[in-house]
Amino acid sequence: MSAQDGSAAVQAPGARSAVTCIDLDRTVIYSPRALLLPGTDHTAPRLLVVEVYQGEPLSFVTEQAARLLPVLAAATHLVPTTTRTPLQLARVDLPGVGRQQPGTARTGRPPSSGPSFAIASNGGHLLVDGVPDQDWNLQVRRALSGCAPVDQVHAHLQEHRGDFMENLRTASDLFVYCVVDRAELPASWVVELSGWCIERGWGVSVQGRKIYCVPGPLTKSAAAREVQDRTGAGRLVAAGDSLLDAELLQAADAAVRPAQGELADTRWTTPGLHITTAPGVLGGEELVRWLLAQVGSHPPGTPGSGAAASAAAAPR
Ligand SMILES: [Mg+2]
Repeated sequence: MSAQDGSAAVQAPGARSAVTCIDLDRTVIYSPRALLLPGTDHTAPRLLVVEVYQGEPLSFVTEQAARLLPVLAAATHLVPTTTRTPLQLARVDLPGVGRQQPGTARTGRPPSSGPSFAIASNGGHLLVDGVPDQDWNLQVRRALSGCAPVDQVHAHLQEHRGDFMENLRTASDLFVYCVVDRAELPASWVVELSGWCIERGWGVSVQGRKIYCVPGPLTKSAAAREVQDRTGAGRLVAAGDSLLDAELLQAADAAVRPAQGELADTRWTTPGLHITTAPGVLGGEELVRWLLAQVGSHPPGTPGSGAAASAAAAPR
């Protein structure tokens, strides 16, 4: 299951004509409480740990998804596209992509493939070979100059925090998030917060135990378009599960979301959107197969699809 094997397998004329932006948490990688495995423990798929936090395994993909991701990375400009900060993203070692740290973000990529890209902080950071791009950072700061300042939003949350709020953070000096006890969180609190934020050009997204407040112009799609410009790729393919991903999915030429998550909870859709059948980590694997079919010369599992088909059809 080496990334090198997959990367070498699908270098074909016309390949990498697309940028494929994949949200990570609860789209491709899943924490233990988000796995949503069906059936009994005795039928569970084998999982690969892709993130360790404070010495404990935190995020997983199925072993099959781990086989397919390097194939996908060879067939497209595969761009991890997350609301995580660069520091949080650097904990993730995604098969076929590697860690987003200077000197390590090219793991498994052929030397001729050009720079690797990753989008962090909901579009606030564009990482090029693991290094934050300063030009992009300046562009983002300019775009946000018309929004309410991050300190004002942080102060509002601080003023209205309740016992349900476990911590409150400013991320990358760009947006604010807090971790809450969902069982104790009053539904009206999120509604009121959303109303207050909207009036100031900000939006709110609830993802598991985290509530994000993000300025409107801070978008994943703006950074995705920047990657398209820099790579010359004409097509944008995207995957995501939360309200913060909605504008990225709408901007894409082809888009997919998992069967669970914030978008699923609100039955959100957009023309042409594909929705996985399975939720959780198996939905993540299904989603990678779908992406591979979107960008591959041949859909996986069909005659002539070569290594892509072999990897996709390999037994567990
Ligand atoms: Mg997500």
